[in-house]
Amino acid sequence: MIKISKSNNTPQTLLDKGIAGKIRLCQEYNLAPLDYTSRQNISNKKLKKLVIDNSIYGDTTVKEQLITDQNEKCCFCEAKFTATSYGDVEHFRPKKAYKKDRKLIYPGYYWLSYDWNNLLFSCEKCNRSFKKNEFPLLDDETRVNNHNEAHNLSDEKHTLINPIAENPEHFIKFNQHIPVAIDNNERGTTSIKTFGLDRAELNNDRLEYLNGLKIFKKISDIDDNNEERIIHAMATFEMSRTEIIEFIKTAKNLYENAAKKENRFTNMVRSNFLDLIKN
Ligand SMILES: [Zn+2]
Repeated sequence: MIKISKSNNTPQTLLDKGIAGKIRLCQEYNLAPLDYTSRQNISNKKLKKLVIDNSIYGDTTVKEQLITDQNEKCCFCEAKFTATSYGDVEHFRPKKAYKKDRKLIYPGYYWLSYDWNNLLFSCEKCNRSFKKNEFPLLDDETRVNNHNEAHNLSDEKHTLINPIAENPEHFIKFNQHIPVAIDNNERGTTSIKTFGLDRAELNNDRLEYLNGLKIFKKISDIDDNNEERIIHAMATFEMSRTEIIEFIKTAKNLYENAAKKENRFTNMVRSNFLDLIKN
């Protein structure tokens, strides 16, 4: 995970349909708050449910802006996957219900369903298999339960790292291809677990990428003014002089740009190749 800089380009549909939709949801809730609220001895199935319109937050213009702002990467795992999968518009604070002690608690953060600052683009696996309705707090007393308490949202002590508002690199780094919480900090540990950042297939993908970068680094270290090194490289790679010069240039370019936020697995790259971190 890295920090996501969202553009100020809030999609128009969130400003018109989204705001109207939020007002509707808040009015509906205000008519009978208890009917929408989980409580003891009442099954969640019996509660009234606020109807959230997925055509608003899931509008193409919303998704496209998120994809652009996030450089086509999943907000959690930093994989690039738009060539093979659609991805989800994900709500950082769950819209319908959140999980607590393995139970769903209604309502969720319904008033943030169409809020630009609550929306992220994620891969389906991070969203549907891991993050889902999870939204643990470090201090349950700070939970904002409905829109009438929304002014306290900035005081809510959420455990999960919010890549829109915080820099995940202050909490999570990588030991080779494996994510670790810096100094075992609780928020990093919970985020790695909740978002599934340590899952095997992701670790394998990162390892493959990391090994590739290590090779690019080695090749880009070849001094193209050193005749002896060039001749040696020509023999090693069975390439002509022109090919090897071009090869070094390409490797240099790939390696030097690897830590940029536009490329995948940026946090892992920055954790492993400190020379790439400028300033
Ligand atoms: Zn992901």
